[in-house]
Amino acid sequence: MSKFKRVLIANRGEIAKRIYNALRDLSITPVIPIVEKEFAQCRTCYPYAVLLKVEDGIFLNKEKLIEIAKENECQAIHPGYGFLAENAEFARLCEQNGIIFIGPPANSIELMGHKETARVIAEKSGVSPVPGFSLKGLTEDEILKKAKEIGFPVLIKASLGGGGKGMRRVDKEEELFENIRMAKSESKEYFASEDIFVEKYVVNPRHIEIQIFSFPGGRTVYLGERECTIQRRHQKIIEESPSPIVDEKLRNEMGEAAVALADTVSYVGAGTVEFIVDRDKNFYFLEMNTRIQVEHPVTETVYGVDLVKWQVQEAMGLVVNVPQDKIKPNGHAIEFRVYAEDPENNFMPSPGKILRYVEPKIPGVRIETAVRDGYEIFPDFDPMIAKVIVFDSNREDCIEKSKRVLNELAVLGVKTNIDFLKSVIEHPAFLKGDLDTGFIEKYSGFLFAEKRDAKFSKEEAVLLASVVEKEGKGNVEKVEGDKDYFPQISDWLP
Ligand code: ADP
Repeated sequence: MSKFKRVLIANRGEIAKRIYNALRDLSITPVIPIVEKEFAQCRTCYPYAVLLKVEDGIFLNKEKLIEIAKENECQAIHPGYGFLAENAEFARLCEQNGIIFIGPPANSIELMGHKETARVIAEKSGVSPVPGFSLKGLTEDEILKKAKEIGFPVLIKASLGGGGKGMRRVDKEEELFENIRMAKSESKEYFASEDIFVEKYVVNPRHIEIQIFSFPGGRTVYLGERECTIQRRHQKIIEESPSPIVDEKLRNEMGEAAVALADTVSYVGAGTVEFIVDRDKNFYFLEMNTRIQVEHPVTETVYGVDLVKWQVQEAMGLVVNVPQDKIKPNGHAIEFRVYAEDPENNFMPSPGKILRYVEPKIPGVRIETAVRDGYEIFPDFDPMIAKVIVFDSNREDCIEKSKRVLNELAVLGVKTNIDFLKSVIEHPAFLKGDLDTGFIEKYSGFLFAEKRDAKFSKEEAVLLASVVEKEGKGNVEKVEGDKDYFPQISDWLP
């Protein structure tokens, strides 16, 4: 297969920029469609790209994306994550049009995209899924009997659900059928399918996932784990590698389970197998994501690889052949998802214009973002501002460094979760690695405590102080409370 000249990036925001960088490293011209609204603020980000001014909704419009790819002589499309990244129909449509879809075969996407089917495949591969059962063909009596067998609480899930949506926890048996009815109708509305199933609700587990990469010819390697237990609304906000509880033996067991699963569906490329891990370190298959994940930089940092580059190289038919015994973790990495959101108001998105954006200049810090001064976070899209990945030789030092990084990251103009993320890593339980998915709820008293009595709003004071420190105009401790010493917000207006 010949080298790609042009590749269409069917995505936006930080992941579009990430893919753009990988393509540039491979001397491939990225073609980037940009929606009308974002055009002005994005064009300067992409000096080497072919910019296409297109209408809203583009990233879900399969036919239009293919048309754009053809018109611009792209040999392949990278879908990133979200949007059409796990859409088997889109992968097939690409193929039918002679365009390479940078991702696994449509068939693998389809099998793993249906959570209930994926559970069956896991069992076939010798990997235990979370205890549960399919509702298909069962009477109400049988359903109740099975639910009691696995024990309440249970979790009703939409087979095609994702992004933390389509789940209903049921604590009591008398609430089961009412919730099943609601879950079916929600699933129909959001995912155009009434397929739902029941799983045991594992109380306060850990979420630990394995990064895999399958090379053509059926060889799959695993690149260790990511601990993704710190979540809000079932959505990850802090991810790290290695996990504080995973030793080499457990890593190998989970890795081999993930590889077995990938092999069963003849997987190709980058993928993630997610597990729920209980207090006794028993792990259960949750689902497989057949794409590059938001948190992939954590693995890249600790394993010294470029997964997006691997994806593109593999799609070009180049042999990326890394033996399993050469894949060893080095040091520790933590990723923070910085969002325009209001932690105090149930993490509601807080879109708006970013007046000033300043990144800390600290060795061992990688920041993935498309944001710059004056960038507007629109309510139409995910309100992510940046992913901040911090690396150090061990977990303790990595946490310490992360505190400084979060202190010195300045985002002015919108509410952000930066302070909240800092509170999480300041909690003694986080430092001990004593984590579960209920962490935020459990420690809410500590995490949401008002910590500053400032003249500016809490957030502005921190952000301005960070800017002051970075611009070398003073020391944060010294100037706090001294209003005149702070630059005025108008100083930072674009
Ligand atoms: P989605 O595809 O919507 O992201 P997942 O199945 O990956 O859904 O689950 C997302 C999160 O929901 C998990 O990381 C975990 O916190 C929680 N969760 C999912 N299944 C269970 C379960 N059976 N028991 C307890 N928590 C669960």
